[in-house]
Amino acid sequence: MNLLLIRLIIFAVLFFAGLKLYRMYREWKLDRDGPQQEGDEAGNRMVRCRWCQVHLPEDDALREKGDWFCSGDHRDKYLSEQTEEQNKDD
Ligand SMILES: [Zn+2]
Repeated sequence: MNLLLIRLIIFAVLFFAGLKLYRMYREWKLDRDGPQQEGDEAGNRMVRCRWCQVHLPEDDALREKGDWFCSGDHRDKYLSEQTEEQNKDD
């Protein structure tokens, strides 16, 4: 019975030591991977066309006054509609 108890204690010690090591490893991994993940997100950012709601990579999109568009055609359509609405208000 004593042998079983000793084995149990050894197992518990190993378990907690492993848990502590795992937590240390996870924190170290987060520290190392943190800045890299931010870089990937900036490179592959997806934006949505204001006119047709289609998602596309930021690199392929057109930017106009803070809005994103999939093509010059949709940008022109959206902008002409915007100016029409502004004219109604005036
Ligand atoms: Zn579009």
